[in-house]
Amino acid sequence: MKTNKDGSTITIPVANGRPGERAAWLLGNRAVCATLPLPPKEVRRLVLLGAPGVGKGSQAELLHLWCGACHLSTGDIFRAAKGLPPGERTPALESALGCMARGELVPDETVIAMVRERLRCLRCAAGFLLDGFPRTVAQAEALERLLKADDLPLDAVLDYELDTDQIVERLAGRRVCASCKDVFNVKDKRAAAGICPHCGGQLYQREDDRPAAIRVRMETYHRNTAPLIQYYRQRGLLLTIPADGTPAEILERSVAALDAHPHPRSANPNGSASRAG
Ligand code: AMP
Repeated sequence: MKTNKDGSTITIPVANGRPGERAAWLLGNRAVCATLPLPPKEVRRLVLLGAPGVGKGSQAELLHLWCGACHLSTGDIFRAAKGLPPGERTPALESALGCMARGELVPDETVIAMVRERLRCLRCAAGFLLDGFPRTVAQAEALERLLKADDLPLDAVLDYELDTDQIVERLAGRRVCASCKDVFNVKDKRAAAGICPHCGGQLYQREDDRPAAIRVRMETYHRNTAPLIQYYRQRGLLLTIPADGTPAEILERSVAALDAHPHPRSANPNGSASRAG
């Protein structure tokens, strides 16, 4: 824990085993990122779409290594908020955590307000990889307004597609390391003992990966998020990526699709971008 000048406390989030990484996104206004990404030669501002469990999070991490843009997951913000002392959780946040545990969507107003508080991350000169936001047409419209106001056009929307049975199997077998947050499958022999093979941390199952919550999340995806495919197709931004195979194979497809996609240019390629943090 660190203390602000006004005496309030800051919890340092640990992303990928590195304290303070993506703090501006995970904690919002008060926080400063431990390391600031360097502006790349070509800024990428991407949205990753796909049903829960399709592997968007893993792809976002790999795309981050490829282009330098930060992996911005709204689900990660809620998971980081679970670690806050109860006194620091607003009623809206408490109710959001309840929605999350049941596998339901958090209300649009709450999520949009949270993203608006983190505009610095969307303006970051390194670009961004949005994962799990937008999830409804109302959220997509809000994002479009926020980006337009700063002349920061989206480059593309990667839509990861996988057969539903394979997705359910992946989700039910997913285990996360409590320490470094790495993700494994129970079928992975290295993870069979429930211990992270990378850092020795305890592996656990996310509460929203339990069967009842998985069913709700899949239904919610088809009802609320699938319409975004059409939304972004109409805007010429949609790139459909088959999500079967290894993470490296899926990354290769993603990069090939991005390379073949025209890169929209704004009047000012970096917009009003500044480094977040
Ligand atoms: P994820 O890690 O993206 O699967 O998100 C975990 C949970 O957080 C979801 O099941 C929702 O309860 C909540 N959540 C994350 N992002 C959003 C969003 N953009 N809109 C509504 N709820 C969200």
